[in-house]
Amino acid sequence: MRRFILIWGLVLPLILGGLLPACHSAPDPLDAYRPALVSSAQDALAVMAGLPRYDFLLTVIPERRLVRGQETVRYTNVTRAPLADIVLRLYPNLPHYNGRMTVAAVRVNDKLATVSTEAGDTALRVPLSTPLQPGQSIEIGLEFTAEVHPAGEDAVFGAGQGILSLPDCYALLAARDESGWRTDTAPPHADAVFSDVALYTVDVIVPTGFVVAGCGVAIEQTENEDGTRTWRLLGGPQREFALVLSGDFVTDSTTVGETTITSYYLPRHSDAGRAALRYGATALRVYSDLFGPYPYRDFRIVAAPLGYRGMEYPGLTLLGLDLYDEWVEELEFRVVHEVGHQWWYAQVGSDPLRAPWLDEGLAEYSTYEYYRLVYGQARADELVQTRWRAAYVYAREQGWDTMVGQPASAFGRNYEAIVYAKAALFFHALRQQVGEDVYRDILRRYLREYRYRTATGADFLALAEKVSGQDLHPLYIQWIGNPDL
Ligand SMILES: [Zn+2]
Repeated sequence: MRRFILIWGLVLPLILGGLLPACHSAPDPLDAYRPALVSSAQDALAVMAGLPRYDFLLTVIPERRLVRGQETVRYTNVTRAPLADIVLRLYPNLPHYNGRMTVAAVRVNDKLATVSTEAGDTALRVPLSTPLQPGQSIEIGLEFTAEVHPAGEDAVFGAGQGILSLPDCYALLAARDESGWRTDTAPPHADAVFSDVALYTVDVIVPTGFVVAGCGVAIEQTENEDGTRTWRLLGGPQREFALVLSGDFVTDSTTVGETTITSYYLPRHSDAGRAALRYGATALRVYSDLFGPYPYRDFRIVAAPLGYRGMEYPGLTLLGLDLYDEWVEELEFRVVHEVGHQWWYAQVGSDPLRAPWLDEGLAEYSTYEYYRLVYGQARADELVQTRWRAAYVYAREQGWDTMVGQPASAFGRNYEAIVYAKAALFFHALRQQVGEDVYRDILRRYLREYRYRTATGADFLALAEKVSGQDLHPLYIQWIGNPDL
């Protein structure tokens, strides 16, 4: 199956290239990324000349849980003001990531730069000798090591049961908003990474026999003389890059449209690993039909030492190993929730620190459509009662009820009940108020207008009011809170 991907990854762009009119002779540097996208999504690249581009070479030494990296980031100032510095995030240094990342030999346009770290070593500030003017580009090069702490099992960045899970094991450009580079850090119960879309070319060197699952399309594998193998992945537009590898992974694949879906699991979990593939493929089909097409040519469902949790990345979902055995009854829901994030996070971005409800609530409530279409209305109604209303009622009884529309740091043990369940109930109430067809139109329009951008709750509300022609402020205030926050 992987051979099939390799062949199509290489041949399809040639075919598509042959179909396109030869209207300009200069080679388009973004053409290289076309193989990562389904044909209907490739036009998006045409307006993405200013996207950051990452190139890195990662050498993974599994027995030491260590990655050595060489990275180049090409960054264009797409803001309207000169920039005096660039900030990159070093997420493995987050306390709850159980990792350690160090950076050396930082260069700006090939000149050594003196840099500093802040935010608990999770942010690297690179000063520029002359400000970067709007429209200008620079290249930042650096070397790094990232390692997983031996006690890192059951962490997003972790190792266990022969699987090494290395999301964001590189220097990732910080998100920028009106306040500048964002260096704030999320509490342990919330998603940590906030970043804008970029294009990636990644070479990963691993011992031969290891199976690599990463974001993007794997276009080639090369055998090296020292007993290692280099996997080349490329992808984008995507918000981050995650890498998982194991010498024990077995895989199963299927296709939905032009997308290959692959499930990576341990041999003892073959039933659950195949079930995850079925659930993922069905959800991808249901959501593509309902909301708009899934853009990437690959989608990977990857077992990881993450307990019973799941975690979303662009074109890739981590599923905790417990979901394959003792928590297997949760597997379907978790897969379907995580697939929803391929629309609400990967395509339409939102701020996981300041407005975690926006993508979590939508990914959670999108499962309603999956269960309704796959199993019928009664099953979907049951989900509303048992998963969201019951959790919310319990939270109220405990005195945990609060506004949904708050930063992740405002929540504690009530995080899931409010940010997932109560937010899902808002989308359910909205769907009931405007009707099924209008609700679907709202989400389709939301996807179209904010694809690869970052939306806020106020953006969603304004768009929902425009599409429905209704004043939805009272509903929003009832469930989410102040729309001006
Ligand atoms: Zn989620």
